[in-house]
Amino acid sequence: MTTAILSALPEEQGGLVHALAQPERITHAGRAFWRGHLQGQPVVLALSGIGKVAAATTATVLAERFGVARIVFTGVAGGVGEGVQVGDVVVAQDYLQHDIDASPIFPRWEVPGYGGARMVCDPVLSALLLEAAGACLAGAEDICDAQNRPRTHAGLMASGDRFVSTAQESGTLRAALLAAGHDVLAVEMEGAAVAQVCRDYGLPFAAVRTISDRADDSAHVDFAHFVQNVASRYADGIVHRFLQALPK
Ligand code: SAH
Repeated sequence: MTTAILSALPEEQGGLVHALAQPERITHAGRAFWRGHLQGQPVVLALSGIGKVAAATTATVLAERFGVARIVFTGVAGGVGEGVQVGDVVVAQDYLQHDIDASPIFPRWEVPGYGGARMVCDPVLSALLLEAAGACLAGAEDICDAQNRPRTHAGLMASGDRFVSTAQESGTLRAALLAAGHDVLAVEMEGAAVAQVCRDYGLPFAAVRTISDRADDSAHVDFAHFVQNVASRYADGIVHRFLQALPK
């Protein structure tokens, strides 16, 4: 039962490749896949690339060629929900694509053929990720002051082929989604695509994203700093704890 650990950027993959036991590098569809063991569990590590199409290709390869039993995404995202701050960790309960719009034929945000907007994540894997994230943040408490202590959140995430980088865009997006009953905590560019591929293949999917920016006018600065300095440490800490807890 192989677990795929997917990230968008090399920085998000962190030291996982170096930690891999019996590593084997396989190239397919222009992507590098690393097969091996972490915490005694068989895994495949892969980079999705940026955006929904790149992520869907990688997820399809993981399902078809590697026959993985589940896919877990680890990466960074822009916080848009109230109280979702840089350094916090969000575990997805479900996903939607914020840039899909076949209205007026289908309701806005509905994925035609799927009967709704949201793709649900696997509750068991998500609970394990949330526990792992909590433990990881508790371990970082000594480097944070009491007011800025990072928190974990669980809820709706949204993906789209845009780096959301103005307060106006994120505010408009959040308000429109909220008015339709979609209380989005964070935005990124891949998760909903992977969730849809996993649904097609009947594969359990879960995702954890560390908040690198607030999807506002300073998002590009915050993003670059965070990805270089913090994202990989989070990815390592959360993935190792998650795999330790995953039944063999
Ligand atoms: N210049 C960057 C581009 C990264 S795009 C580089 O190549 O290094 C941003 C990545 O981080 C995407 O993979 C996306 O999933 C995530 N992300 C972080 N903050 C985001 C935001 N505010 N809007 C959209 N995606 C965001």
